Order: sequence, then C-alpha cells, then structure tokens
Amino acid sequence: MVLKGGNRRSFEMRLEAAVRRRVAQYGGFSVGSKQSVVFVEPQSETCDVPGAFGSLRGQFGAASLNRAVECEKDVSAIAETAKTYLADDFARAKSFKVETKRADKRFPMTSVEVSQYVGGELNEAFPQCAVNMRNPELMVLVEIREDSAFVHGNAVRGAGGLPPGSAGRAVSLLSGGIDSPVSTYLAARRGLRITPVHFFSFPYTSERAKEKVIELTRILARYCGVTTLEVVPFTRIQEEIARGCPEEFGTIITRRFMAEIAEKIAFRVGASAVVTGENLGQVASQTIESLAVTGAGLSLPVLRPLITFDKREITEWAERIGTLKTSILPYEDCCTVFTPRRPSTKPRLARITEAEAALDRETLIAEAFAGTEKIKIDETGII
Ligand code: ATP
Ligand code: MG
Repeated sequence: MVLKGGNRRSFEMRLEAAVRRRVAQYGGFSVGSKQSVVFVEPQSETCDVPGAFGSLRGQFGAASLNRAVECEKDVSAIAETAKTYLADDFARAKSFKVETKRADKRFPMTSVEVSQYVGGELNEAFPQCAVNMRNPELMVLVEIREDSAFVHGNAVRGAGGLPPGSAGRAVSLLSGGIDSPVSTYLAARRGLRITPVHFFSFPYTSERAKEKVIELTRILARYCGVTTLEVVPFTRIQEEIARGCPEEFGTIITRRFMAEIAEKIAFRVGASAVVTGENLGQVASQTIESLAVTGAGLSLPVLRPLITFDKREITEWAERIGTLKTSILPYEDCCTVFTPRRPSTKPRLARITEAEAALDRETLIAEAFAGTEKIKIDETGII
C-alpha cells in the first residue's frame, strides 16, 4: 500500500479486512499487516495459493503484490530455496540482482554478505542470467526475519487505488453500456463503496437487458465486493416524457429524472456522491451544457471518472477489468428506445424546467423510488 499522512493505520486495517474476506474462499490464511505491507500466509497444505494470489491482483489498495517462500535462516538453505522457487523467473530473465533485508540484526552475516553469497550461488546455477546491480530484470529479495527467512521474486503490479470504503459510499448509474461499468470500477478504486443503480424500462427493454446489468454488477463485485443493485422502474417516466415534453429535450429530461432518483437513493443508503459514465462530447446529451443541466438540481457532487477519456481508453479499461464482453452484448438500452431524432445539444436550464412543468415530477419520482427492486449480489452470484 502506498500512502502518506496520519490516517495510515485505518487504511491498513481496511485493506487487511478486505484481504481477509477475499482469501477466505481459497482456504485458511492468516492475514496481518506491518508498515504498510499486508502479509498473507497459508495455514495448511490445502490452501489454494495461486487462486488467492490471482484474486488479490484485483484488490483495491494494493500497489504491488509479491509471492514469497519461507525457508530456514541459513544462507545455503536460502540459496537452494531461491534456485528452485525462482527457476521459472530465472529462465525468462536476462539479468538479476539480490537484495537482502535483515530484520533480525543478530543474524551472523550482514545484508551485503547474504546478497553476495546468494547472488554467487544463483549466478552459478543460472549462468545465462547476468548480474546487473543497476537495472536488473529480476530482483531477488531475501528477508531475514525473527523466525525464518523469506525469498521473493519480482513484484507484480496490484490494482492500486485505496482500500474499499476508505472514501465513503457513492451510488453509480450503471447502464448496460461500455462506459458505466468502467466509471463504477474507477470510482470504487478510489475507495468508494458503490451502490449501483439501474433504470429499467420494461417492456421497452427486456428482462435480458436487466440480466446483463446483473452480470456486470457481478463482475464488478469481484473488485468492489458484495453490493446491492438498485433497479428503478422507469417505464412510466419515459412514457410521460415522450408524451408531454418536446422531443428534442427528451434525453436531457430523462437524465435529470435519473439524477434526481439516484440522489434520493444516495440519501437512503448513506452515499455522498453520484457517479456516472458520462464523457465529454461523445453524444448530444454529453456536451458541457447538457452535463450542467443534468446535474443542476443535485446537492450531492456528481463524479464523472471518464469525463476526459477517449473511447478507446474506456474500451481498453473495459477489456482489462473484464466487463467488455458483457457490455457489447446487443440488448437495447432504455435511452436508445426513446432517443430524439434531433436532440438539443445546448439546452438552457430555464427552457428545460419550463418543459418539465408539463409533468407531475414529484409523483413520478416518488413512485419510481418506491418501486425500486433491490438485488443483492456477491462475487459469485445473486444472494
Ligand atoms: P454507457 O456506455 O455507460 O451506457 P454511454 O456513452 O452510452 O454510456 P449514455 O447512454 O448517454 O452514454 O449514458 C450516460 C451515463 O448515464 C451512463 O454512463 C450511465 O452512467 C447513465 N445511464 C444511462 N442509461 C442508464 C440506465 N438505463 N440506468 C442507469 N444509468 C444509466
Ligand atoms: Mg449507454
């Protein structure tokens, strides 16, 4: 974990708790932390270590991960362990270096002596891999602690960000598209617990469109943890807008309803921000003017993690976090069904609120809010 500042301990405890929950499904592990490093140790032979390690790569708050093997506190045992444990890494690397950290100051050799000895042995065992003190491909780390020694290979990059919940909670508007799963992920990575909210317009959008959002939530739950997806019945509102408002304002008025209902849900679940997948200039509803009008009625901040991204960058993220395949499944989205032919790109708030006066907004919002379905989802399925 990479942190500065005084509240490090509380962040560490959150990370530790999240790691503990995550590895529990792979067997009995002990989890503890010291100086911003979380140690996870299998307690029996039956633990699925590769499984746990793989799953921790998605853990927010972990800057890097390192697998280590324990061995006897004796230099030749350390060298032998490094040879077998890191044989694959040595086969791939062109250069290496050994570094030693000695927590046990009574150990009979200095750190430099240990590094030299182990480095010499490894150099003999893997002659094609040269010693390089400046910029090695493979960094072998030897740690000599009180009870035993540890050998590590290269660290792999972790998911980064901050531990779950360290920034509070937000609701996230989750459609079935490519963008909003990515914005949800990125917001969660900054330490926000997420309550996803989906607006569902049955029968204009099918049960399968809802299934798709459930599946996306399930994928996101691998990173964000257990969550409750809030599905808001939106059909009546969309029909009323189509019937009562000028067509060119349809999308923007729809967005304003979504924002307001999302904020009501935020207050109910104790969230302090609204996250969307909006992105500057992709479509008419996402010009600066439109974004301003959409968020105008809210008292909570609207977070738009993707605001400056190119579509290609968003798609690359979607691919990396595993949501893309599901997002591109061809089920309709409630906004495309009612999309105006010539949407307004520079709406003015006064004109929009005037148009909205034709609707009984309060009742429509209260009804949709009251009808919200809550679907609890963990990383494995609906629970
Ligand atoms: P996405 O790929 O996330 O659907 P998009 O580029 O298609 O985004 P829009 O469809 O205009 O953009 O939606 C903008 C944002 O509004 C979405 O990213 C999402 O946060 C929210 N949104 C749109 N439709 C819905 C919906 N049916 N339920 C929940 N949120 C929605
Ligand atoms: Mg969309």
